[in-house]
Amino acid sequence: MGTQTDLIHRGERPAPSGSTALTTPIYETATFVFDSARDVERYQEGSLPAFLYSRYENPTLVAVEEKLAAVDGAEQSLIFSSGMAATSTAMFALLKAGDEVVCSSAIYGGTFHLIEHLMSHLGIERRFVSLDALATPAAVIGPRTRLLWFETPINPTLRCVDIREIAKACRAAGVLSGIDNTFASPINQQPLAMGIDLSMQSATKYLNGHSDVTGGVLSGTRQLLAPISKTRRLLGGVMDPQPAYALSRGLKTLPLRVARHNANAMAVARALEGHAALERVYYPGLDSHPDHAIAARQMTGFGGMVCIDVKGGQAGAYRVFDRLKVIKRAASLGGVESLCSLPVLTSQYGLTDDELEKAGVTRGMMRLSIGLEDPEDLIADLQQALG
Ligand code: PLP
Repeated sequence: MGTQTDLIHRGERPAPSGSTALTTPIYETATFVFDSARDVERYQEGSLPAFLYSRYENPTLVAVEEKLAAVDGAEQSLIFSSGMAATSTAMFALLKAGDEVVCSSAIYGGTFHLIEHLMSHLGIERRFVSLDALATPAAVIGPRTRLLWFETPINPTLRCVDIREIAKACRAAGVLSGIDNTFASPINQQPLAMGIDLSMQSATKYLNGHSDVTGGVLSGTRQLLAPISKTRRLLGGVMDPQPAYALSRGLKTLPLRVARHNANAMAVARALEGHAALERVYYPGLDSHPDHAIAARQMTGFGGMVCIDVKGGQAGAYRVFDRLKVIKRAASLGGVESLCSLPVLTSQYGLTDDELEKAGVTRGMMRLSIGLEDPEDLIADLQQALG
């Protein structure tokens, strides 16, 4: 064999037998080798369990999907290259022209733009409804509604909606329910156990937890995920094996991290509540939060996100934002480092005043993703910045 051929082919490895790697191997390969045409045929017929091509399936991804299904209490989970890839693939798979998607108007900005500006190109009707309207979900479902999509706690106000009520109304009407569970994480909130059909999360946040992976996940029944899995092959928004490995490592500490996020965020919220420089502190764990009772019914922890509304509007928020020293000025959330973002410049950027009002977002809001640092350092940083 020539050197070039040798260099290319010597790395091939069958699955090791008799010894087990402690960690999930990274199958960094785009394709898989078959022994014969008959084997390819058997794979296609479903009688040979094998892998064909990494855009379809990859062993590293399957291993992570099994962990995610376990933590979500789902029959199956699928991972994607981002949270938006997960949401858009689900919508492409489940909706067709003439169907209507009903969506909470208080929703992550990317989801809003996807439904408002992209799904509408395909003839999919959309109706954005207020939180007050969602409180009686049966009344927001129309004759053409196929999917009701919502988020709780909501980005960035942390308002909450009653998951069980929405699930019940959707089931009764034969409408699919989909939740964005990113802010809570499955450690604090189990929407599938409350009757929701499809749970979506940006894995970029708590699931991975180290702000070094972009990813998304959908969890539900095998029957519901089957068309979504086919659509993932076609749209191609699947995750690569390398970040899937990092996600699988992050997941090992998810319950430990979320417990600390919960405790730190509660400490920060309590320390800031009533501060003279603030209009308001929003944290679902505070008695003063408008949806504390709902959150207490459906969450086992109140999460790591705190929103503060600074006096003096946008200029006031800019001033406090620029003075932070420990907490980093960065978009995203759910990582070990505490981050702060201004919703009007990030998740709600470009929304009109009317759209901001419908989303419950003010120009003075600062969104804090409370990380795993010592809580007294975070509180001291915020106190000095608000000073
Ligand atoms: N849902 C929520 C609540 C988010 O905050 C985000 C991102 O910030 C997304 C979805 C989108 O996730 P990704 O950025 O992984 O596409």
